Amino acid sequence: MSSESQLRADIVEVGRRMYARGYTASNDGNISVRLGSDRLLMTPKSVCKGFMTPDMMCVTDLEGRKLQGERDPSSEMLMHLEVYRQRPDVQAVVHAHPPTATGFAVAGIPLDRAVLAEVLTTLGSIPIAAYATPSTQELPDAVRQYIKAHDGMLLANHGALTLGADLFAAYYKMETIEHFAHISRVARLLGGERLLSRQEVDRLQGLRGMYGIASPAPICPPGQDPAAALGNPADCQTILAPEDGGARLVADFTRGAVGKDGEIRLTYRELTSLIEAAVRELK
Ligand SMILES: [Zn+2]
Repeated sequence: MSSESQLRADIVEVGRRMYARGYTASNDGNISVRLGSDRLLMTPKSVCKGFMTPDMMCVTDLEGRKLQGERDPSSEMLMHLEVYRQRPDVQAVVHAHPPTATGFAVAGIPLDRAVLAEVLTTLGSIPIAAYATPSTQELPDAVRQYIKAHDGMLLANHGALTLGADLFAAYYKMETIEHFAHISRVARLLGGERLLSRQEVDRLQGLRGMYGIASPAPICPPGQDPAAALGNPADCQTILAPEDGGARLVADFTRGAVGKDGEIRLTYRELTSLIEAAVRELK
């Protein structure tokens, strides 16, 4: 295990990278790591993550009581504590507002399509936790249902949260989410993603072990209706993949049209764009 001085230096470095890459502005974002079995090392509130020094960090216990440090711990500490409570395997938590991923979170569009092998093997699907007022108990309540099955998630109208077996693993997942969001946006501007097949999704899932990736949850079994899996993300992850040619429309349609209550919701514009996409695919 890394020494405390090394962990302090690593937090400074991750904060610097997040700020340099535009994942945070001003004093946004926060970072924490486990310090042994019963303490956490955490960024303080109201500092720019790009200009921190190792001595600024706070040491807290797992209940969030400050044990050491001149500054108060992050205003999002409750969300971090919830992650450590639910996931004994997690050693580090990173929260930021990377602009493209946060754009998806603001638009209410989860990154849950089977598109890139690297994302499927490392993160699987990236859901959106419901909107919650930052710094309140609402935020840990909103992310709780996703923590067990996901190492990364979007926070509605807010940002993104990633977890890892060490600090850099958690940070790299933040990079992956933002990179994936950027690629997804470009693909959508160019007419939409071509999804990987369910067979390929299963194959990639099987390869996770080979890459030494301990993914928190399996992707839903083949044949499971994506619409039926929506709203029940705790046990497994939901990935949208077409079963065969033409099924992309079905996946898009079920996702866009059927709410948790089974009610059909599809605007005329959405319907038109789905039909246009299907026609393009047939050409
Ligand atoms: Zn935030």
